[in-house]
Amino acid sequence: ASISVKELAEVLGKKGSDLVMALMKKGQMLNINATLDFDTAAAIAEDYNVILEQEEEKDILETVFAEEEDDEKDLKERPPVVVVMGHVDHGKTSLLDAIRHSNVTKGEAGGITQHIGAYTVQIDGKPITFLDTPGHEAFTAMRMRGAQITDIAILVVAADDGVMPQTVEAINHAKAAGVEIIVAINKMDKPSANPDRVKQELVEYGLVAEDWGGQTICVPVSAVTKEGLDSLLEMIILVAEMKELKANPNKHARGAIVEAQLDKGRGPVATVLVQNGTLQVGDPIVAGAAYGKIRAMTDDKGRRVKKAGPSTPVEILGLSEVPSAGDSFYVAENDKQARQVAESIIAKNRENMIKETPQKVSLDDLFSQIQSGNMKELNIVVKADVQGSVEAVRQSLERLSNEEVRVRIIHGGVGAITESDVMLASASNAIIIGFNVRPEPAAKAFADEEKVDVRLYRVIYNAIEDITAAMKGLLDPVF
Ligand code: GDP
Repeated sequence: ASISVKELAEVLGKKGSDLVMALMKKGQMLNINATLDFDTAAAIAEDYNVILEQEEEKDILETVFAEEEDDEKDLKERPPVVVVMGHVDHGKTSLLDAIRHSNVTKGEAGGITQHIGAYTVQIDGKPITFLDTPGHEAFTAMRMRGAQITDIAILVVAADDGVMPQTVEAINHAKAAGVEIIVAINKMDKPSANPDRVKQELVEYGLVAEDWGGQTICVPVSAVTKEGLDSLLEMIILVAEMKELKANPNKHARGAIVEAQLDKGRGPVATVLVQNGTLQVGDPIVAGAAYGKIRAMTDDKGRRVKKAGPSTPVEILGLSEVPSAGDSFYVAENDKQARQVAESIIAKNRENMIKETPQKVSLDDLFSQIQSGNMKELNIVVKADVQGSVEAVRQSLERLSNEEVRVRIIHGGVGAITESDVMLASASNAIIIGFNVRPEPAAKAFADEEKVDVRLYRVIYNAIEDITAAMKGLLDPVF
């Protein structure tokens, strides 16, 4: 982490020039824009009886690129960003392909094979952006890194198969992220298709179809015959309009990395999704430890473009290294600022290797976490050997909720604790409880790395006892 003399002066409530003078008297010749490393800055601050604290990586970026509130009049409608989720083999990939192809006009032929990680289709002149990596794992992995880019989740359920374990996972991952769910009941062309059964099964997970008196939009479709695709797309537009999604295209861009890799000839290649502002060729950008001036941009049809506005995915060239999917990107004032910010993040990452990753919620120190953060919700992922235990635990634990703290089971399922569970817990600051199940080895290592608290029990009573005890600490003192 680093800070400029000017910024330090602000922190200390001094004029920049006064601080430069004071430093000069102590024999430190520093220009007002000079950057100080943390230790130097902390030592100076100590002279003024101020204790400096280090900020996390995200805070460096958010501080440097603090976003000013947009004026209502600058906001323009932006396309919705949609992700497709559901059980394996229910037709997520087929649906994404069918939507992509159904919307290619003849003139664009040839350009349609570009897979850059996201694509945009036009429905009566209204664009919709789809993330091209189906599944809730990719979605939650990005969320874990801080990227909240999705507005709507399409939950694909095969009409001949119904709600399956990953359908439930997808529902819970989408709900944990607060994303609107539209259900696509797929494979309607099959003789064994039974959409009513699907609707019936979804009720159990809080998704009640509109024609059953609920709020959930369900559209019967077939990725093979293309039946229903138009209605599905119309529904997406409708939901997007209700959500009044807006952004300000007239400012420096910011957004998220959708995917990135090293290309032998072209160097680091990243697909970015612009969330606000407009990205332009030549812009200096920072994405985690990667930085650089954008050399070229290509859209999802393989065309060179100079600009990309809100909710538009583009592939960019020119970064110094390969960023991670889910990293935020920001346009800097100039090349130098981009490099400096990236360097301070590299330095910070180096420190982090020695230091701890930020602690997530854990039963051991709930109390102190509440005191510092005012936590009002305890999120829990439950895995058990049989469905009966999952339900028993859900009921017992949710019953522990009281006025001050709400206990929320954000996901419950049968089977070993998987990496996907850890991802969800990490992204949602949850703990994981297992009954007569263990974490898969990779999940165990991942949980350690992410500092997710995993508790294993044989008896439900013991879990309830532990959490009740922890919750006593959760409660605000009553006078
Ligand atoms: P994913 O695992 O969810 O991405 O599922 P895929 O898109 O790979 O589809 C799994 C299988 O179901 C493939 O063999 C598809 O051809 C088939 N499939 C997908 N959609 C439909 C559909 O609407 N009707 C029929 N009959 N088959 C489908």
